[in-house]
Amino acid sequence: MPDKILVCKDCNAEFVFTEGEQEFYKERNFQNEPQRCAACRRVKKQQRRFGGNFGFAAGRSGTGNFGGR
Ligand SMILES: [Zn+2]
Repeated sequence: MPDKILVCKDCNAEFVFTEGEQEFYKERNFQNEPQRCAACRRVKKQQRRFGGNFGFAAGRSGTGNFGGR
């Protein structure tokens, strides 16, 4: 299984979906490849931890868009 180059849907940067990560996904039966680069994923995670209270709460209705799944 070769490494794969994916494009982050948040910042459009290319990132590597490594062999190890692909195996990890397979083990867990994840259907989808990662949509975001590591940096964006980290940001997302932090946003989730702070419960969407990260500054964008104001002016947006609801947090339905966050933590998508
Ligand atoms: Zn990104």
